[in-house]
Amino acid sequence: MIHIQPFTFNPFSENTYILYEETGECAIIDPGVYEPFEEKEIVDFIQSKKLIPKLLLNTHCHIDHVLGNSFVSGKFKLALAIPELELPVLKAVNSYKNEWGFFKYKECTPQIFIKEGDVFHLGKNNFKTIFTPGHSPGHVAFYLENQKICIGGDVLFRESIGRTDLPGGDYDTLISSIKNKLFPLGDDVKVFPGHGPETTIGYEKKFNPFVKE
Ligand SMILES: [Zn+2]
Repeated sequence: MIHIQPFTFNPFSENTYILYEETGECAIIDPGVYEPFEEKEIVDFIQSKKLIPKLLLNTHCHIDHVLGNSFVSGKFKLALAIPELELPVLKAVNSYKNEWGFFKYKECTPQIFIKEGDVFHLGKNNFKTIFTPGHSPGHVAFYLENQKICIGGDVLFRESIGRTDLPGGDYDTLISSIKNKLFPLGDDVKVFPGHGPETTIGYEKKFNPFVKE
């Protein structure tokens, strides 16, 4: 069984997730750590649980989700894995980071490119990649099929959806990702989003004004 530990970091209130299981192997998804106290928070968690970091993954590469890539990759000697179509989005961060006040952001060079269907392993558990573009062109979600849990990034939020006004965003594509990729997972599937509280597919089908049925 995989445990999900959420953290909320940086001025965008971005959710970083650490997924870990019985052997101690863990994945760090969308590390939004920027300030030293944020870096300390995840290091302390990993050390206190005696976790063994194995994976560093991004759902997509907007600045709030990649601020801590370089720190986490260096600290735990992890290769960064990003969705293959997100490379231009990652590269673009350098062009706007100063304007947004993130002067000390350092780009981390990705070594692994994630494709739809890719499966990642933690101990005896695994989760797979679902391609969910629209908020950004290469966005992916990670699905723990056995546990009916989706790490959803900025696609579907509790009673809201990801913005589509950033470069590469597209509203119709986002709605299609939600309705054709996430909704079929099932009403009882829990979604842990990139911002805000967790939700379920069933709840969003009923109450989300953008996509309710
Ligand atoms: Zn985003």
